[in-house]
Amino acid sequence: MNLREQFHILDQQAYGHPLVYFDNAATTQKPQSVIDALAGYYTTLNSNIHRGAHYLAAKATDEYEQTRRAVQQFINARHSHEIVFTRGTTESINLVAATFGERFLGEGDEVIVSGMEHHSNIVPWQLACGRKGASLRVIPFSDEGVLDLNVYRSLINEKTRIVAVNHVSNTLGTINPVKEIVEIAHSHGVPVLVDGAQSISHMAVDVQSLGCDFYCFSGHKMYAPMGVGVMYGREEILEQLPPYQGGGEMIKEVTFERTTYNELPFKFEAGTPSVGDVLGLKAAIAFMLEVGIDNIAKHEKELTDYATEQLLQIDGLRIFGTAQNKASVISFLLHSNIHTFTHSSIHYIHPYDVGTLLDKLGIAVRTGHHCTQPIMDRYGIPGTVRASFAIYNTLEEVDLLVKALNRIAPMLL
Ligand SMILES: *Cc1c(COP(=O)(O)O)cnc(C)c1O
Repeated sequence: MNLREQFHILDQQAYGHPLVYFDNAATTQKPQSVIDALAGYYTTLNSNIHRGAHYLAAKATDEYEQTRRAVQQFINARHSHEIVFTRGTTESINLVAATFGERFLGEGDEVIVSGMEHHSNIVPWQLACGRKGASLRVIPFSDEGVLDLNVYRSLINEKTRIVAVNHVSNTLGTINPVKEIVEIAHSHGVPVLVDGAQSISHMAVDVQSLGCDFYCFSGHKMYAPMGVGVMYGREEILEQLPPYQGGGEMIKEVTFERTTYNELPFKFEAGTPSVGDVLGLKAAIAFMLEVGIDNIAKHEKELTDYATEQLLQIDGLRIFGTAQNKASVISFLLHSNIHTFTHSSIHYIHPYDVGTLLDKLGIAVRTGHHCTQPIMDRYGIPGTVRASFAIYNTLEEVDLLVKALNRIAPMLL
């Protein structure tokens, strides 16, 4: 397979320049096989699953359930009924925070998150804590972007009910020591939720080896369509949680007096799911397995190492997130003499200005706080410019970024 040929969207020009797509941490592009799976569903298979007793419904149901098993194998879950389809990471975390919070959080209890969480792994816990009179505790991180595990150990106590951390930071790129974080929590009998939105497309994930109790991710950041995500939960803990949304499919029997709930995973899948997108996820997993997860990791590491080295040669460029163990995310700012804001007496060019000029040269990056305002507060900056790489990116594209930055930096100084 010629990999790049699977991504026709990248063959475009933007403002007369070759389009360089470095916003993969926000969403990846979709290979043709995924687009074909999506179109194929609507062309040949469309029908509502599980309930219809006819040819199309049976086939669509079969494919939908095959995807569940594909996901199970992909993350090495013990059972396929531990895989719940959602709309994405955000919905997955909200599902856990709401149901776990309802069942296990009480007055004075504590939930531990890290200082480098996406808002999706902060706000649902704040909402759950607010409903129950519980509070959030936060694991701090160093200037390099490394979590302080000693403080983490000291934060866990008999009031801790759950720990929620990301596997990879979408802003700093840090790969967090999730296995160790889980071991520490489990030694206190505390379960752990892992936000895997940024790890799932970059490395092999084995939920049994990590030992985590929940693992959440989005399809659209791993070459699948938007509109589908996964909430993995260990059977023993899912069995103890109340349903999330009420409605069709999640019930066994309904009367006006009393409703009994369906078994796992259907208890958590109320209503008609986005079947086509789920089938697209199956195609995306097949795509990743065909390329090979190790090849993906290796290629992205090469891009990240090369980009880091080249970017640091640009005068006045500072990278935020310099942990040893990093995924393919590079956040940076450029120093300025005529500053728009200051931090530790250093003047930086505003990330929006850099991002806008890069865009005019055909290079797509993300600018702003990346849904991680506490990280920006930690560094005293309003945002960063973020370049993030995927399997289809090339070293030549990194060169284009570096060239563009060298061209625009003098314009902004
Ligand atoms: C993108 C992202 C989310 C939210 O994912 P959605 O697909 O928007 O629901 C959560 N956490 C991290 C680390 C992310 O990168």
